[in-house]
Parts: sequence; structure tokens; C-alpha cells
Amino acid sequence: MRRKLVAGNWKMQGTLTQNAALLDAVRSGMAAMNSVDCAVCVPFPYLAQAQQKLSGSNVKWGAQDVHQLDKGAYTGEVSASMLHDFGCSYVIVGHSERRAIYGENSQLVAEKFLMAHLAGLTPILCVGESLQQRESGVTEKVVAEQLDALIQLGGVQALRSAVVAYEPVWAIGTGKTATSAQAQAVHAFIRQRVASQDSQIASGLCILYGGSVKANNAAELFAMPDIDGGLIGGASLVAEEFLAICRAGVPS
Ligand code: PEP
Repeated sequence: MRRKLVAGNWKMQGTLTQNAALLDAVRSGMAAMNSVDCAVCVPFPYLAQAQQKLSGSNVKWGAQDVHQLDKGAYTGEVSASMLHDFGCSYVIVGHSERRAIYGENSQLVAEKFLMAHLAGLTPILCVGESLQQRESGVTEKVVAEQLDALIQLGGVQALRSAVVAYEPVWAIGTGKTATSAQAQAVHAFIRQRVASQDSQIASGLCILYGGSVKANNAAELFAMPDIDGGLIGGASLVAEEFLAICRAGVPS
């Protein structure tokens, strides 16, 4: 059985003081919750703080983006090996905000994913459709294109120890969650698409749902057979809310 993973995406939020309280609360709240995996993806400047506060606990940490190359003259960028240096376990790649605001396409996202893998990190590949795409009936086509770019570049093997996060763009930060049935349908589609190439990798693949997950809807989403946890934005900034979502991932 796949373990549930709940990963927070803080985005560009936090201060040293606020983070200290949040990290301490998540660390202590998670101490007795060993049957669910938990991580926080923090802004780059706070990686050292996350490492210092979370080392030795069952809460992992990670980043929200990474460069596709390992080193060089790329002012302002951060490499996967740097993230590894700070003890990161995870890195988010291809978040819809990066695709929409920074023009990242699926080819670039696949390159970032593979570089993260090479450095020993677990990449969290975000996929998902816009509202217009959903309404035009092309959700599966969009998600398939995003997934296939990675499979073409790295082979299906690239998904062996990785995470995919299905995040419908219309549900991110809007308070509008996909219904558990809508989310399950896309998760099942992702798993089937991977299974068509390698059924073992597909059955072990962790597929998170993201998009306005809160304490009051997490349990229903996490009960679906192909939903293996959540990628949590806004609610990951409030310790009690985030911990309640993690609790929803504890097997009953
Ligand atoms: C996200 O940004 O990945 C996300 C899911 O945000 P929210 O939970 O705030 O919708």
C-alpha cells in the first residue's frame, strides 16, 4: 500500500520569525504521526532554517524550483546539488505559477525534473489544466502532454522514485476544490498512462492532489484510491490546519 504524503508549498511567504514558529509546531505535531510522510517546500533563503529546525525529525524539507543545469554562469539560479547540500529531500518542478508567470514549458520542466533526480532529490512534477482547458474538454490531453514530455526525455524509469502532483489551475488558491470524483478521474488517468509503459512503476507512483486542500476536505480527497496525499499551498502556512491535513492521511 502506498503511504500518503502531505507536502506544503509556502510559495513566496514567510519570515525568519514566522517560520520558526511554524516549523517548530509542524515538527512537534508530526512527532507522533509516523504513518504519513510530511514535507515543507520553503523559499530558497529559508532552506538553512528548515534544515536546522527539522533535522532529526520525520518532517522533510525541499524547494519550489530548481535550475535545469548543475552549475555555471546563471545569475540568480539555484542548482539541484545546492539543494542537496542543504539536506532537501524534495523539489517542486513545473508548478502552474512557474509555467504561467515564467513561461516554463514541459520540456524545460522535464529537464529540471531529471537534474533533480540526478542530484538525489525527489522531484514533485506538477501537472494540471486551466479552467478554459477543462471546459473545452481537453484536461486529459493537457495532462498527458505534460507527463509525456518527461517520459520522452527520461523514460518511464524517471518516475520510479518521484511524485506527480495533479493541480487543476482553477483550484489553486481559489478556494474552489476539485470534487473527489473529478480529482480521482485524473489521478486514475495519470496512473493508467504510466501503467501502459510500466505497471510496477505506476502502482508505486505517489500522485498528490493540489488545489485548495483544507482540513475540511482532505479526508474525502485522500480516501480516493488513486489520491496519495496532497500538495498544500495556503493551508500549509497555518500549523494547525496543515497538521489536520496530515492527520487525514493517517491510515484508518
Ligand atoms: C499550490 O500552490 O500548489 C496549491 C495547491 O495552493 P492552494 O492549496 O493554496 O490552492
